[in-house]
Amino acid sequence: MGAVRFAPSPTGYLHKGHAFSALTVFETARQLGARFVVRIEDIDFTRCRPPFEAAMFEDLAWLGLEWETPVLRQSAHLADYLAALETLKEAGLVYRSFATRKEIALAMLSAPHDAPDGYRGVPPAADEEAARLAAGEPFAWRLNLAAAQAAAGPLSFFETGEGPDGVHGAIAVDADPAGDVVLARKDVGVAYHLAVVVDDARQRITDVVRGADLFEATHVQRLLQALLGLPEPRYHHHRLITGADGRRLAKRDDAETLRSIRERGVTADAVRAELGFSPHPG
Ligand code: GLU
Repeated sequence: MGAVRFAPSPTGYLHKGHAFSALTVFETARQLGARFVVRIEDIDFTRCRPPFEAAMFEDLAWLGLEWETPVLRQSAHLADYLAALETLKEAGLVYRSFATRKEIALAMLSAPHDAPDGYRGVPPAADEEAARLAAGEPFAWRLNLAAAQAAAGPLSFFETGEGPDGVHGAIAVDADPAGDVVLARKDVGVAYHLAVVVDDARQRITDVVRGADLFEATHVQRLLQALLGLPEPRYHHHRLITGADGRRLAKRDDAETLRSIRERGVTADAVRAELGFSPHPG
């Protein structure tokens, strides 16, 4: 049986962009006869708050969604992401990065102008690493992209929605724009890409349905799946909902939240209709 997931981070209240995403994922589950899973991506304890999580469940139920329980909460599974990191360490595909934001910005500035590639660090030499560790300097674990690409060989992923310029079907993986991505953050000890691939496999997700803003992330995630021997889901990136100004809705721009829309007396069916979904049958 197939499975799809809606994987929000509880860093604020949900707005119509989230509603569109959740409804799209839910509708895909219905069409595929697949399981619908909600996953709480709360590894970033500096930004995630339990009240936002509780509010999110209320909003999703208001929209008419039903999901499997218990819900997987990433903060309860940090050991699993660290185990995946360990596998990559043993394969020599990650390195400790002591680089500060400023050093990274400078390195990017001195890169050739036409290079669309992300940051590439230099793994520290053993004696330098030992000295910095002894001095208690904080570090992140980064993927050694060149080594990872050599180990994995050519890869592709299958897009059933649309990427930039309408690309779809089999897409060659190119993680160069992402560079040596962080797989374990200095501050929270784990990071997004690794947690996502571990959980997509754990939850047996067959179709990753999510916003087009995460299309580029797919290149990195497909590479990590190959390195960790995890199964490959299909991908479907959907359009992003924009506001009256034509810009994508975002928490940081104070997009109106579903709860305030509800408080204004707007019905869930009206929101569903505005987003292109039929009324809730219940
Ligand atoms: N937690 C991510 C977000 O809220 C989504 C991750 C994903 O769908 O892969 O943007």
